Amino acid sequence: MIGTGILKGMAVTARNFVGSYFEKERLITVQYPEERSPLPENYRNFPFLIYDGNDPHAGLRCVACKICEKECPPQCIYIVKSDDRKPDYLGKPQFYPKVFDIDISVCMSCQICVEVCPFEAIKMDKEFELSQRERFDHLLLRKEQLSKSNGYYHKIHPVEAAAVDKGLADAAAAAEAKKKAAAEAAAKAAAAKAAAGEAKPPPGGTSPSPGSS
Ligand code: SF4
Ligand code: SF4
Repeated sequence: MIGTGILKGMAVTARNFVGSYFEKERLITVQYPEERSPLPENYRNFPFLIYDGNDPHAGLRCVACKICEKECPPQCIYIVKSDDRKPDYLGKPQFYPKVFDIDISVCMSCQICVEVCPFEAIKMDKEFELSQRERFDHLLLRKEQLSKSNGYYHKIHPVEAAAVDKGLADAAAAAEAKKKAAAEAAAKAAAAKAAAGEAKPPPGGTSPSPGSS
């Protein structure tokens, strides 16, 4: 019958309208900014940089490899690599970004920078109250504004952050095991070489033969 769909739709609206006076979950509006709806785990806005521990400089995961800068479609990331190095989370000396800017007036929240980063150093933030009166400079976020702790990452994306932590811990354990195996192999090789050196006859001498006394 013509109009059945409209009537069904109006019935849903009426049910929710009347029901909203009795059941809070039927209310789909909140009194923002006093009230806020929780954002889903996968909500994303603009990227931020992660640091481990309490020191945003020492713990910054970014090694200034510039992959994200190259891959960003609207080219809104600007990085200047450091001249010196600092230890990364594995203790390996790495470069770090002397400058890391993101122009969020241009960023389209595509998350490609996050996907391509090999160091789990850049993630998507949920912060959306970023309006400014000045369109250009104030929407250019600097390294200091972009750097946020791993604890913050866990707060906004708990499931994803736990998976990332596990991946990093596994990688660190694998690197440690590899280092240990290499050290053991080197020690074995050195021992074998030393044993071969002992067995070798001195220059000009003869090697002992079976039966000789
Ligand atoms: S989210 Fe997309 S547009 Fe924004 S900085 Fe990352 S790669 Fe560039
Ligand atoms: S955020 Fe990741 S991809 Fe971008 S420069 Fe830093 S380490 Fe490289």
